Formats: sequence, C-alpha cells, structure tokens
Amino acid sequence: MPPRRCRAIVQTGPRKLELRELPVPDIDADSGLLRVEACGICGSDAEQYAGVLPIRFPVVPGHEPVGLIEAVGERAAKRWGVQVGDRVAVEVMIPCGHCIACRSGRYPQCRGRGGGLFGHGYVPLERPPGLWGAYAEYMYLDPGSIVHKVRKDLPASTVALFNPLGAGFRWAVEIPRTAPGDTVLVLGPGQRGLASVIAARAAGADTIIITGTTRDAAKLALARELGADHTIDVGQEDVRKRVRELTNGRGAEVVVEVAAAATAPVAEALHLAAPGGRVVLAGVKGFKPVPDFLSDLIVVKELSVTGAFGVTSPSYRAAIRLIEAGRVPVARMHTHDFPLEDAERAIRTLAGEEPGASSIHSCLLPGG
Ligand SMILES: [Zn+2]
Ligand SMILES: [Zn+2]
Repeated sequence: MPPRRCRAIVQTGPRKLELRELPVPDIDADSGLLRVEACGICGSDAEQYAGVLPIRFPVVPGHEPVGLIEAVGERAAKRWGVQVGDRVAVEVMIPCGHCIACRSGRYPQCRGRGGGLFGHGYVPLERPPGLWGAYAEYMYLDPGSIVHKVRKDLPASTVALFNPLGAGFRWAVEIPRTAPGDTVLVLGPGQRGLASVIAARAAGADTIIITGTTRDAAKLALARELGADHTIDVGQEDVRKRVRELTNGRGAEVVVEVAAAATAPVAEALHLAAPGGRVVLAGVKGFKPVPDFLSDLIVVKELSVTGAFGVTSPSYRAAIRLIEAGRVPVARMHTHDFPLEDAERAIRTLAGEEPGASSIHSCLLPGG
C-alpha cells in the first residue's frame, strides 16, 4: 500500500523551489501510480527553474521519470502491459490521442488536453491529482501517459538516459533518415549531442564528427568513446576547413544542431552541410534571432532544414533497447545523482552554475 502523503518538490515561481508533503493520489481503473526511482534532469529543467518556459506555477517539475509501478488500475494494466512491481520509463507527453497531431504520429505537438504543453512535470499542481511531475517520491500516471517496461537489473540512473538517448535517435536518425554511408556532424557535445553520436553510430552512419568548445574537452573525449570518429574544437580550429577535409570536400549529409543558447552554430550548419544535406535544428536559443543566417545556402544547396522538439515512441523504444543491450557504455554519460531535497543544486549543477562541478547527465533519486 502506498503512503497517504509523500515528499515532492514544488516550484512556486522563477528560481523558487520548496520541499512539501503532498497527498498521494487514489487511482481508478484507467490510471496508475509510479514510485519514482530516478528523474533525469535536462536543459529544459534549468529553463523551467529560471522561469523562461510558459508554465503555470505552482507545479511539481520533473519530466524524465523512471520508476516502479506501485499501483495500477485493471484496464490501465492491460493497456500498458504492466503489473505492480514492474519498472517503467515514462514519456514526458500525455497526448490526448484524438487530435490531428496525435493521429498523425506527431503527438509532441498535441495541445488537445488544453493549456500549453500537457506532460509530466508541466501540468500545474492545481489540476487534480497534482502529482504530475517526477521531482517527487510518487507520480500520478494518467490514462494518457505512455510507459515503456524496462529491465530491473540496471541502475535507475542508467535507465534514465532513455530520454536524451531517445532524443538522439529521433533528432540524429529518425528525422534526417540517417543511413550507412552518411557523414553525421553533431554541433554541441551536451547530453543530446553525445546521444546523437550514439544513435548515429547505432544507425550505421559512416563518419561521425562532433564539435565543442575548448571548455568541452572532456565531453569531446567521451564522444570518441561513444562512437565519434573526429572531434573539432571550435575555439582552436577552422570548422569549415576541417569538415571539408574529413568529407573529401562534400560537407556532411546530416548536421544536427544541439548547442545550448549559442546562435552561431545554426548559421554555420548551412555552410557545413553537403549539397542535398539534411539539417536538424534542436537547440533552443531563447527566441533570439540568428545573425548571419544565409537562407540562400538552403536554396542553392537544396538543403532540408527541420526543427526537432520532442521525441516519439519509436525513438524512445530504440533508446531503451540500446541501454538494455549494454554494448555501448552509455552510463559514462551519467555524472551526478542528487537526493530529492537537493533539486536546486542538481539543476544549478547541470546549468553550470555550481563552481567546480561539471555535469553531463544528472538524476534526482527521490527514493534516496
Ligand atoms: Zn527533458
Ligand atoms: Zn492530441
């Protein structure tokens, strides 16, 4: 039996987190309750914390949950194929299942549940039953939640990598249709960039190149371990020249832009892509304009430029299978674990605001 109340982090405003006791919800035949083992922390958590995302407060953050099924309704158990005690990874989006976006398989764009983004970690506390996010010991599983059963013999923090890795599969493989023979260039060596390297390698890409700054030296070294053939330090080297050398003058068939905040890589991606290449833009820039963006390069090189925001089930599934298979040392990306009450330090560490701490992938472990 779950307890009546549990500990949860509540965000009440920009840069305001409180540890509170909240009631653990009852469930019905179509819903469930997750005992949260780990919640991955991603770049958007830092933006949510800073208050730049359009999210209503108060809210329980946390959209990258892994946990155990604590309770599950009869119909939900059938639909999800799970029973009490199973470990699941939960997708962030809670799609309505009926709108045109959902029915076209683009459910990250679903707005059918009303308001803005309807997903774990984003639905406000005032909407019953309140425990929508995974910065908590327990999280409500809505009838529309999407869960993936995962092996139980791996560390929860390793399983939590299904989120960045899922993004890698969708942004670096599924959207640009990466195939053997392609050169894939990844701009930015954060967790999504490293995940893009892993996914491109798994998809059989030929040459994989990743860029970063001098400060990113350790991440670039890790990228090599995870499958990158070449790394480029943008502070020390002429990126266009190096990419030309490495691709026999062509440029990269696939360019994945996942740099945080910096706009220059967006403009640069068009120069680095091969004629007919596919450019995927997935790094958000705080709605800043991009200087020196030459749209003519898209025209004369006939580039396909696609935005990528969310992740869908096929890519999550590919990520989970890759983690379970254990051939790639994905856990090397995991750098920090924090107890629930240290949520603020966890976010600040990921955002690079904690002096001396360098993080790639971090988790909150609400179960202690
Ligand atoms: Zn995330
Ligand atoms: Zn929908």
